Amino acid sequence: MSATDHLIHANSVYVETFPGARPLRPKLALTIIECMDSRLDTFAALGLQIGDAHIIRNAGGLITDDVLRSLALSQRYLGTREVMIMHHTNCGMTGFDDVAFRAQLAADSGVEPGWDVPGFTDIEDQVRKSVSAVRSCGWIPHRDEVRGFVFDVAAGRITEVTV
Ligand SMILES: [Zn+2]
Repeated sequence: MSATDHLIHANSVYVETFPGARPLRPKLALTIIECMDSRLDTFAALGLQIGDAHIIRNAGGLITDDVLRSLALSQRYLGTREVMIMHHTNCGMTGFDDVAFRAQLAADSGVEPGWDVPGFTDIEDQVRKSVSAVRSCGWIPHRDEVRGFVFDVAAGRITEVTV
């Protein structure tokens, strides 16, 4: 049985207590940007309910063009106004060698990636860079409430990073 098969079974249990449909627009008018890391249980860690917030995730929770695209849609079409950026301790992107990674993909496929995935060394510094990247993006109409945090994967605690 694959992991996916287990999840399909879990869903059949989930629907038994599913609370029902929620409105399309996030109730808290909030977007969270964070890493894809499997240890971030965003709903439990932040007390979220279904329908509360948009969550945009990628490797590192980095502010890529795709993240800005999704955030622009979130704010302009679905009414969100606040942004919470959450990086985390022990991230797989810490010290990541972007140049070597892209060279390997190009060598394996013959196709040069049209994107990069820069790693970072200082998590708090990276939070500041991410907050700054959102605050300076003119595609995003609401930039007065953009705050950054570090989630501690060992303790489950978030700490705000002063920008
Ligand atoms: Zn991560």
